[in-house]
Amino acid sequence: MELVKQARAQVARLELSAAQVAVLDGQAHTARALWNLLHEYVTFRQGRLATLKQCDAAIRAARREIDWLGRLPAQAAQAVLKTYRQAWANFFNPEHPAERPTFKARFRSRPAVDVPQARDLQIKRVNRRWGAVSLPKVGRVRFRWTAGLPGVTQGGPAGRITGARLVKDAFGWQIVFRTETMAAPVTGAHPGPAVGIDRGITVALALSDQTTREHGPWLSAGEKERLRRLEKKSARRRGARTPGQPASRRLTRTYDQIARLRATAKRRAVDWQHRTTTELAATFSVVVVEDLKITNMVRSAKGTIERPGRNVRQKAGLNRAITGEAWGRTVTLLEYKTRDRGGLVVKVPAPGTSQTCHRCGHRDPASRDGTRFSCANPGCGWTGHADTNAAINIRNAAGTVVSGRGDLGAARSAKRQPPRAA
Ligand SMILES: [Zn+2]
Repeated sequence: MELVKQARAQVARLELSAAQVAVLDGQAHTARALWNLLHEYVTFRQGRLATLKQCDAAIRAARREIDWLGRLPAQAAQAVLKTYRQAWANFFNPEHPAERPTFKARFRSRPAVDVPQARDLQIKRVNRRWGAVSLPKVGRVRFRWTAGLPGVTQGGPAGRITGARLVKDAFGWQIVFRTETMAAPVTGAHPGPAVGIDRGITVALALSDQTTREHGPWLSAGEKERLRRLEKKSARRRGARTPGQPASRRLTRTYDQIARLRATAKRRAVDWQHRTTTELAATFSVVVVEDLKITNMVRSAKGTIERPGRNVRQKAGLNRAITGEAWGRTVTLLEYKTRDRGGLVVKVPAPGTSQTCHRCGHRDPASRDGTRFSCANPGCGWTGHADTNAAINIRNAAGTVVSGRGDLGAARSAKRQPPRAA
């Protein structure tokens, strides 16, 4: 059987000395500064995208003239250029227009450095728990071994590592390996039924088969209380500080404590999403979801999860950030997990799904009362959970294909159909 290439990413935590952390922090800072230099250069040209050659020449000149730019390994600098150009390409993509590239502000961007060439990494497994990797200008570094890194150990998974990206979160630096493995192609359609999923108001996910997928709070009562106190403290200190001055050491420490609690909540949420999406992709052939544009709700509220902004209402900020981010991630996970199993995610525009009765098609805001849906059409009178009703509408919006087994071609063409009542 012929195998097909499958691109994936695998994350591992790096064990770094304080000096190595400082080197990587410096590289990330420089990468961000380089992005901003490029952006200034392009904006100066009134948005006319400079050619690759021009950008490359600009980077080389900048590296000669600005000595701290030399802190960033040349390959990582090239990766910044590539990512920056891709950001514009995404912006001009007529099918999925992304947001316009902007300057990267210090606290609103995640520190990251690319190691685009796998051969520089020299990955070895040291023992059962640890692996070692070479990072440019940092040296040899240990990382927590993650099962299934392809092409490193004998008898391990076949495939190779094509590059890596170093990313810093509230717990420190991690390495994201880009891997390419060979997998058996999926043959035949997924035998499972189709389902519509609504991102519920009171439950995490409501399914059109009347079941739900729920989870507890991401933080315990004690952790939430601690977060609330820390946020009050940071607000007080922010208010007391002189405008224009950098944050005090104490304020920075409070920010770090907040960031760690939020990262804990996020890690638990991601874990739940992985388990849930695996189960959904194994069960259903076609998963229909509402095509919501997740326009970075998080960032628009001034600040990020790690560095809360001044205008983020404290409790709402966290909840909104996590649920907003979570939905986009759920859909992404479902897309690749269903694809691996011969299934499919169909995104449908589905306005008014929460007000429309799935049985008779009567649309009336009066039908909706909190979590309860009672059809206001006297001839129908369907009652049930409002999120379930919405999930059924979403499934129906994908057209007839989803009532049977996954007819993939038809499901794809059904993407742009307006919602309709069953
Ligand atoms: Zn009805």
